[in-house]
Amino acid sequence: MTSQEIKSLTHQYIMNTYGRFPVAVDHGQGARLYDPEGREYIDFTSGIGVTDLGYGYQPWAEAVAVQAGKLNHVSNLFYTETPARLAEVLCKRTGESCVFFANGGGEANEGMIKLARKYSFDKYGQGRAAIITLKNSFHGRTITTLKATGQDVFHNYFFPFTEGFRYAEANDLRGLEASAGDDVCAVMVELVQGEGGVLPLDQAYVKDLAALCAERDWLLLADEVQTGVGRTGSLFAFQQYGIVPDAVSFAKGIAGGLPMSGVLANEKCRDVLGPGTHATTFGANPVCAAAGLVVQETLTDAFLEEVKAKGGYLRKGIESLDLPCFGKTRGLGLMIGVEVKDGFTNKDIANRLIENGLLVLTAGPGMRLLPPLVITREEMDKGLEIMRKTLS
Ligand SMILES: *Cc1c(COP(=O)(O)O)cnc(C)c1O
Repeated sequence: MTSQEIKSLTHQYIMNTYGRFPVAVDHGQGARLYDPEGREYIDFTSGIGVTDLGYGYQPWAEAVAVQAGKLNHVSNLFYTETPARLAEVLCKRTGESCVFFANGGGEANEGMIKLARKYSFDKYGQGRAAIITLKNSFHGRTITTLKATGQDVFHNYFFPFTEGFRYAEANDLRGLEASAGDDVCAVMVELVQGEGGVLPLDQAYVKDLAALCAERDWLLLADEVQTGVGRTGSLFAFQQYGIVPDAVSFAKGIAGGLPMSGVLANEKCRDVLGPGTHATTFGANPVCAAAGLVVQETLTDAFLEEVKAKGGYLRKGIESLDLPCFGKTRGLGLMIGVEVKDGFTNKDIANRLIENGLLVLTAGPGMRLLPPLVITREEMDKGLEIMRKTLS
């Protein structure tokens, strides 16, 4: 099909919930994508932080094909090898104790919220179910995770929302403490706010928050749906903050492009969600888990150091272009935010870059760059050259 045919068919038969850029993508290689007519795009998006190993990565494609040919799905009523092995790797690399596998980020966060509420219910009974989240956060699109999201624009249309969320200013521990009563069971944070504009939390704040949570027996929940799985230059962002959360949700990059997510939990949360309290039909899919194992094998410590170095290279490259529309860059690893100066709008900039062959994202009022973690210096240079030509 041609790009035009794909667009027409999409408009006719797929519900119109996305503001799409006018590009159809047919295939990819490395950090490059191609439309059906063969036009090349440099990818600084990874399918919104998902395709960490890029496109056409042979070990990944082979592992998926082998597992798909062997066993595609059997359900959690039985045992399968690949999810058990993936859970082992994740626990050993994080210091957490166990995993619940699900399918998407919002669903993982739902599970993490249920875990926190039941932990508290089991220990203290009813009436201690409030969860504090941060202003400007993003936690998903379900009725509950929309309400957990600390941005008013998301609390619309779908009333009634789930009760029991309270919002605190990021990096203000006193404010958070003041808003908490006796009814709090957990605090949920993104260590680098993603959709909100690539805003890393302060190191000292996170350490103090972890100490406060431990003191009050509030579970510290890290939403690492976007920051997890190597994106920030460590397997999980919490490992750069010197804390170990009680539970950690992950999704986007976990299986390199197949739908998978989950919650890692520590020893004290291991038995909170027993048989019959939580489940999902597709969870722990053996093909997704086989893909996840390839991601874990690829993300060695040396590879993660390279992610940090590449992030530094790209940020420096952007800042040294000294473009009229861009201010400072920020972020961790290959999760990069670029400030957009007054008088320019991020959507216009994104459209112009995409027209010229560079795929980028926006977040908050700025730009957001999430290139595949395997991106090469040559591909980054090509992207920078497109920025220079388009935006000078
Ligand atoms: C993307 C994202 C989600 C939602 O994930 P879905 O897979 O779209 O449900 C939740 N939290 C954070 C931090 C995210 O970046």
